[in-house]
Amino acid sequence: MDYSAQRIYLSSPHMGGDELDYVHDAFEKNWIAPLGENVDQFELDLQRYTQRKYATAVVSGTAALHLALILCGVKAGDEVLCQSLTFAASANPIRYQGANPVFVDSEPETWNMDPKLLEQAILDRIARGAKPKAMIVVHLYGMPAKMKPITGIAQKYGIPVIEDAAEALGSSVKDKKCGSFGDLSALSFNGNKIITTSGGGALLGNEKELISRAQFLSTQARDQALHYQHSELGYNYRMSNIVAGIGRGQMKVLDDHIAKRRKHFNYYFKQLDGAWLEVKKEKQDQSIGFYKNVSKSGLYFIKEPEGSFSNRWLTTVLVNPEETGGITSKDLCLALKQENIESRPLWKPMHRQPLYQEAPYYGQNISDQLFEYGLCLPSGSNLEQEQLDWIISSIRKCLSR
Ligand SMILES: *Cc1c(COP(=O)(O)O)cnc(C)c1O
Repeated sequence: MDYSAQRIYLSSPHMGGDELDYVHDAFEKNWIAPLGENVDQFELDLQRYTQRKYATAVVSGTAALHLALILCGVKAGDEVLCQSLTFAASANPIRYQGANPVFVDSEPETWNMDPKLLEQAILDRIARGAKPKAMIVVHLYGMPAKMKPITGIAQKYGIPVIEDAAEALGSSVKDKKCGSFGDLSALSFNGNKIITTSGGGALLGNEKELISRAQFLSTQARDQALHYQHSELGYNYRMSNIVAGIGRGQMKVLDDHIAKRRKHFNYYFKQLDGAWLEVKKEKQDQSIGFYKNVSKSGLYFIKEPEGSFSNRWLTTVLVNPEETGGITSKDLCLALKQENIESRPLWKPMHRQPLYQEAPYYGQNISDQLFEYGLCLPSGSNLEQEQLDWIISSIRKCLSR
């Protein structure tokens, strides 16, 4: 198989240069595992960057979310609220605990959990007999969710917030970083994320006890004894010292990666004659808010709400077939595939997944519409100008058919 055949990826790993030095250092000291200086330093880097008191590095974002649920006391039969429009890894750990997800739709402005529907869901679940044990809120594609109303509701009902910031490292609201809004917050360093350790994640929090407990659980929950003694169910979730070395190098180029992804976003917007997706106030409850004859190209882009800063992890477009002469997001995806360019529909909502068919859902069609019209475009910080221009001309070609 030829891995180099000029394919343009959605988001591929982008090394900064210093990663290997940290990995070499670990080799030289034979500090391959377990833990070590790279893990300690990487955790400090993450704490500083996200303005959190504590961080623990783990094998994946999924593991971080699983630990967060355990720390929130989620047990078999409990209910956990979760944004429906997200990657399955946000919701699956709920099932790992034998608990049941309750899905909530997005609002049209940030595409993340709708605070009004969240409160409706909470009240309805309480009326049916049990208050949800936790809520999982996501910042999709790097766009911060409406954390102020969401955390307000969480406090009102006494439900802990687990922030899934896997896609939003470096995003912020009024200088408060994503990853610092939840009672517990999860990051991912998977291969396609804004920085990568090849695979990895982190759990962030401000309570020492919780994070120490996460470290205990993620290293097989060994009691203090000479022999191996266990009173609790543990996991093998801790990040290795080699992997953390990659993370230390990546942290040095994170802000540069964000600047590049934001630049790509702006370039797509301009070159494709895009229009901003405006949320019509009167339509806020039922529509994602296309204004017909606003976009010259039929392509719409999501705006940063006042005060929000998105890392623009992935550039997404909504394709309005009423303005493209019938060309849909799926047509565009297939046309790009023909040119060896990877693009991808937005996340398929969890309430539409066969796996979660039985789960309760509180919504009004926003995530369904986003799934229908939306497409993610190649957005890697290592994309070359010629590649961007090639993608843009391929999109234009498809739209002019
Ligand atoms: C990538 C991702 C995860 C999972 O992270 P992994 O490190 O791949 O386990 C969770 N939630 C969201 C929203 C993601 O995009």
